[in-house]
Amino acid sequence: MHLEEMKKEIENLVITKGFYNKPEDIPKKLLFAFIELGEASDAWKKGAAQEKIAEELIDVMFYLLDASRLACPDVDMDKMFQHKLAKNLGRPYQYGEGHRNK
Ligand SMILES: [Mg+2]
Repeated sequence: MHLEEMKKEIENLVITKGFYNKPEDIPKKLLFAFIELGEASDAWKKGAAQEKIAEELIDVMFYLLDASRLACPDVDMDKMFQHKLAKNLGRPYQYGEGHRNK
């Protein structure tokens, strides 16, 4: 399944379950993504099963894609993924991690 397909599945979930679905809800969705990141980190720190950690990371993806659905609906996230991957691959070795040498 590709990101654009996931967005449609998530939209269906949001509508079916009556979750927040307005542009003004975007900050909440991004906050929820952070909360899910915390749950993933906590699960890893507690030595949880890989499936539990993966489930929390999927929750993060759900909220990110859901936020993208409302924040930038005209952007094809599959194309953006390829664009950003190529952009990052074009950057220098260990870009943005100069602190490693300090
Ligand atoms: Mg969770």
